[in-house]
Amino acid sequence: EALNKILDSKGCIRVFCRIRPILSTIRRIHKPIVVGLGSEKIVVGSAGSRKEFGFDKVFSQEATQEDVFVEVEPILRSALDGHNVCILAYGQTGTGKTFTMDGTSDSPGLVLRALEDLIRQASFDNSASFTFSISMLEVYLGNLRDLLAPKPSSRAYGTVSRCNLNIQTDLKGLVEIEGLTEVEFLKFYKSKLVVHQGLTRITIFRRGDAPGGGKAEVSKLWLVDLGGSERLLKTGATGQTLDEGRAINLSLSALGDVIAALRRKRGHVPYRNSKLTQILKDSLGDGSKVLMLVHVSQCEEDVGETTCSLSFAQRAR
Ligand code: ADP
Ligand code: MG
Repeated sequence: EALNKILDSKGCIRVFCRIRPILSTIRRIHKPIVVGLGSEKIVVGSAGSRKEFGFDKVFSQEATQEDVFVEVEPILRSALDGHNVCILAYGQTGTGKTFTMDGTSDSPGLVLRALEDLIRQASFDNSASFTFSISMLEVYLGNLRDLLAPKPSSRAYGTVSRCNLNIQTDLKGLVEIEGLTEVEFLKFYKSKLVVHQGLTRITIFRRGDAPGGGKAEVSKLWLVDLGGSERLLKTGATGQTLDEGRAINLSLSALGDVIAALRRKRGHVPYRNSKLTQILKDSLGDGSKVLMLVHVSQCEEDVGETTCSLSFAQRAR
């Protein structure tokens, strides 16, 4: 019921928060200063300066990949009903974004779980047949790279990156990335390819089984591992790293602006300000389901970044 309530509150963005455990090797130096309070609150700081944030769901440091998946499942399943779905992992570098999305071989994350779940669910649906394809890309210094583009002479995926793809929007507002490689799911699965970070898109083609079949309905499920949200001053980055950091900060603030405009429900939505928001245009607005997974550290030394991330995420709701 609680989940239905969340799913019915259309137009707003759901925000879940995941707290990364302090890894055992450094447990003695860092004392945890960020804790979950029940299943919807998180507290930063101690007696003197204590700040509380509320989200649709808070996963404590003990939450497993399965715990996270169970809560995300209803949202990603709505992609089978024709909704575009966008799941965004946000947070400071090192807080577990890639762990949540990709996971490890022992402990797979959302991308693999989502694919397996959608395929299983689709097999139960007697009224339609489904096919799935997968694409992976990244935005690097403002350019779009196709992470699955095959080398001309090779059958291996992901060996070469096709640079700077064009983004087109059709008359209905649907976004099309020209020439983006789409790999049929089974081939992808067999190739055991793992791409860390970036944007993963699962495209779902749904065909009614009525005689004649008709045209396939297409929906998209985006699973996005966003770049690290840390502020640049503190990291002391220079050169290439500084350029990368600037580009990431720009696209994250463009994302924040789009989300803020969508929340206001009227006026101009500034999708064009970054490649990230152009790509996600038809999966962030009306009729789509958006979930932000904000990741935070428990460490005292990260409190500044943690507070920034939680404030950003709270403004999205
Ligand atoms: P990010 O992608 O946000 O930079 P990572 O996902 O790479 O962070 O996580 C940093 C390290 O912490 C990795 O070694 C990862 O395996 C580990 N880690 C992150 N979250 C968890 C978790 N919930 N449980 C156990 N280990 C984790
Ligand atoms: Mg990462």
